[in-house]
Amino acid sequence: MAHPNPLRPSSDQQQQPNQPPLEFPYIGDVTQYDRIDKIGQGTFGEVFKARCKKTNDYVAMKLILMDQEKEGFPITALREIKILQELRHDNIVRLIEVCRSAMDKSSKSKFYFIFEFCDHDLAGILRNPNVKFSLGHIKSIMQQLLDGLYFIHKNHIIHRDIKSANILITRNGVLKLADFGLAKVITPPKPNHVNRYTCRVVTLWYRPPELLLGERDYGPAIDMWGVGCIFAEMWIRSPIMQGTSEQHQLELISHLCGSIEPSVWPGVNRLPLYSKLKLPENERRKVQDRMKPYIQEPLALDLIDRLLTLDPKQRIDADNAVSSDFFYSDPPLADLKPLLSKYPSMFELKEVSRNNYNQQMAQQQQQQQQQRVRQQRPNVPNLPSETIY
Ligand code: ADP
Ligand code: MG
Repeated sequence: MAHPNPLRPSSDQQQQPNQPPLEFPYIGDVTQYDRIDKIGQGTFGEVFKARCKKTNDYVAMKLILMDQEKEGFPITALREIKILQELRHDNIVRLIEVCRSAMDKSSKSKFYFIFEFCDHDLAGILRNPNVKFSLGHIKSIMQQLLDGLYFIHKNHIIHRDIKSANILITRNGVLKLADFGLAKVITPPKPNHVNRYTCRVVTLWYRPPELLLGERDYGPAIDMWGVGCIFAEMWIRSPIMQGTSEQHQLELISHLCGSIEPSVWPGVNRLPLYSKLKLPENERRKVQDRMKPYIQEPLALDLIDRLLTLDPKQRIDADNAVSSDFFYSDPPLADLKPLLSKYPSMFELKEVSRNNYNQQMAQQQQQQQQQRVRQQRPNVPNLPSETIY
């Protein structure tokens, strides 16, 4: 099926009589949307909640940062548009169109992505201690995340920034993978061909060991590590390995997943940083032992264990993960809509009160965690002080 081209406006968006001559004739006019509130400040641009004047639908407007561009359109944004145009799936955020503002005195416009609006992001939901997930809810979230990832990986695209803040959930309980700012079309493995992608991708706490060790010929497995981190986060309610540097992140990974060495990960010693960094030795793999106090479901523990596999070649892929017994055992998947409808959209709170709210949530969560860790400590040996695992 042909998809609407977000760079091609509908006929009523074309040439307005009092507008300066359009230099981007296929890009819509941002004045068709009423801006309501700022809802996010991401790494690459601000995000606003807005309403389409014509349809009354809410949308999210993401400002495309042009600062570094002396002329032309940022290549990163072009890449994001192209990828989002190709990816149409229930579990991938829908790009409606790209819009621009009128030109300013120096003939410059602002550009915006217009996305379908989602009421929640997973980071916000996890920060709210009042939201209590059942096992069925967790299954629903993880299955939708894996469905989205299976779809993008099958299309040879890797996301490269999997984390809870980039996972949106609509008020109807549909999960949408978002933020394709770092996504990349990859070349499937070919004999005698080595890719040289940048390894400085993925937010540190969700970054897999191969990237931390300088691997540049990587693939979809890098996203699966992030899924493992998020999966555990569904119970722990905060990122499970909060490293302060790349070296520290590798130490936390080794404490949880065992020493990084060729006996468990053949060929790891060939990675550029393997011999340059001091990696913990004689660490036993303790993924399941450490998580058992928090996660009582053996099939979940098993899947997390397979997602947090050090060797990317042995790490479970999206296809196998989504077929795992975890999703086909009792209790069945639960609809998220009744749960989420009890809570206002996290974006209905104004920016200032949201920051207070987030601070409060963080404090509450910290207290809860300290309490929990105190209660659980006898069962959870050698907890590093700054992180649960
Ligand atoms: P960045 O690349 O700057 O991180 P994102 O696309 O991740 O930008 O957006 C930043 C934040 O804005 C998200 O974490 C989320 O809270 C909010 N956001 C982004 N897109 C939407 C959307 N379609 N609906 C609701 N909120 C959104
Ligand atoms: Mg983001």
